[in-house]
Amino acid sequence: MTKAMEECDAVVIGAGFSGIYMLYKLTQQGLRCRLFEAGDGPGGAWYWNRYPGARCDSESYFYCFSFSQEVLDEWTWSERFPAQPEIEAYLNFVSDRLDLRKHMTFGARVTGATWDEDALRWTVETNTSDAVRARYVVTAIGGLTSTASNLPNIPGIEDFKGDWYHTGHWPKDGVDFAGNRVGILGTGSTGIQAIPEIAKTAAHLTVFQRTPAYIMPAKNHPLSAEYNADIKARYPAIWAKAKAHFGGQPYDPPAYVFDDLDIEEATRLQEQYWNEGGLRVAQVFKDAYTNPQAREFIEDFFRKKVRSIVKDPVKAEILEPKGYPFGAKRIALDSQFYETFNLPHVDVVNVKKTPITTITAEGIRVGETDYPLDVIVFATGYDAVTGPFRAMNIVGRGGMKLADRLDDGPRAYLGMSFHGFPNLLAISGPCNPALSTNVPVSIEHDVEWISDAIEYCEKQGIKTIEPTAEAEDAWTDETQSKLEGSLLEQADSWHIGANVPGKPRRLLLWLGGMIAFRKRCDEVTDAGYSGFILTR
Ligand code: NAP
Repeated sequence: MTKAMEECDAVVIGAGFSGIYMLYKLTQQGLRCRLFEAGDGPGGAWYWNRYPGARCDSESYFYCFSFSQEVLDEWTWSERFPAQPEIEAYLNFVSDRLDLRKHMTFGARVTGATWDEDALRWTVETNTSDAVRARYVVTAIGGLTSTASNLPNIPGIEDFKGDWYHTGHWPKDGVDFAGNRVGILGTGSTGIQAIPEIAKTAAHLTVFQRTPAYIMPAKNHPLSAEYNADIKARYPAIWAKAKAHFGGQPYDPPAYVFDDLDIEEATRLQEQYWNEGGLRVAQVFKDAYTNPQAREFIEDFFRKKVRSIVKDPVKAEILEPKGYPFGAKRIALDSQFYETFNLPHVDVVNVKKTPITTITAEGIRVGETDYPLDVIVFATGYDAVTGPFRAMNIVGRGGMKLADRLDDGPRAYLGMSFHGFPNLLAISGPCNPALSTNVPVSIEHDVEWISDAIEYCEKQGIKTIEPTAEAEDAWTDETQSKLEGSLLEQADSWHIGANVPGKPRRLLLWLGGMIAFRKRCDEVTDAGYSGFILTR
């Protein structure tokens, strides 16, 4: 006997920051919801990214939810930059505190969703449980996720006799590197964090580096009870400031214009920010990204820092950031990254100069040189933003596949909705600013905008909400218009799809910043959801 399909109002896909808050909002509105999550607990990106050294680059006091006073009062962060286990514990805490677990199904990866045009329902399928039918589907899948990891297509990987891992789906039980010869590919934000930790136990570590990153010190440290009490007392002002900031951070904007300063003063300030650590090291000068002289000064400052820390001049030369302008790729934070290369068992190989030719049974071959390895770690990133959508079989009106629609690059209206896919809403979707900001602040925005839109539909008796083709085209074109002449154009990064061979070189993020984005979304709401087709 076939079991009746579970009916609910809304399906939420993913139990990271965005899925948790979305589920909370929709259940508070009285909707019957089911959340599917492939992991066996909440966490999302912070569930899968449990590689050694995984840590957030945003400060803990604002890399969290602002919406719940209970959570703000009851949760206390232990470090300036929280490590993966603490963020995972936080998301478990929030799920429990808000009593959300009863709506969550873990260990269930959504494989597809199909729109039924007669019933005006989505049928959502997973790899494990029975299908569910729902009026709304909200994707909370993030833009850098394990379903779309970027594993380089290097010939011979199937011959490798050792073990290999991608940092984006790290084993829950961890990996024991003791006594092993380890090779790691990737010196983006992930590799930079993993390398110092792996070096602590590996017998030998070889870093196969293609592009050296601009890296600044995190200067992470434990937080005192006094500090945390002060933060908690100031939260209303902190969140007001974060929401009024271009990037969703509660920081003052850069205070100095490079050309107003002499070189001694510029150096003193840059040094002062370096000693304080964190992403503000990149925010000393207002014109850091627009004034070529300022950029040259900063680039030189970073290269000098590498030479002052890394003792071996050959290693230092390979690690010095060069070949693209500061700001053209994401800037990363480190804890002892450069210092790690002073250890005698840690080497770096320039695989831009001499590329990897093959993976053999015994290790990695670069040009004609063999590097024998027991373990290979791929810290090689993601098929970002569009990849996670393309990995699911989402079928909209008239059999239209979302994966096909995204073949030529990102497209969406407001970075949250797709023409041809009624009642499908995406938190931090393609052409959305989230991944260029402090993500939880952006997520809270998107969740609140989507839950308001759903509430509006429910109250007005609107059965479907879907953007017009014109609105989607215009938003997509506007997103792309910011690429030409931008810094991002001058490097090969995931932001423009250039890290995945064959992916269209298109800007994946809306770069107007959070203040402008919030205004644009509010204007759409105030105009009765302009750009959307609403059917009763
Ligand atoms: P990523 O920034 O895309 O870096 C991937 C690295 O792998 C790059 O160094 C890349 O070199 C290298 N690579 C790729 N294919 C290669 C190949 N065939 N051979 C050799 N090297 C290869 O990925 P990620 O480091 O995982 O970071 C992705 C994003 O996740 C970050 O930008 C950030 O938004 C987020 N993240 C955040 C945190 C945090 O908050 N702390 C931590 C980790 C990640 P090229 O540069 O030459 O392509």
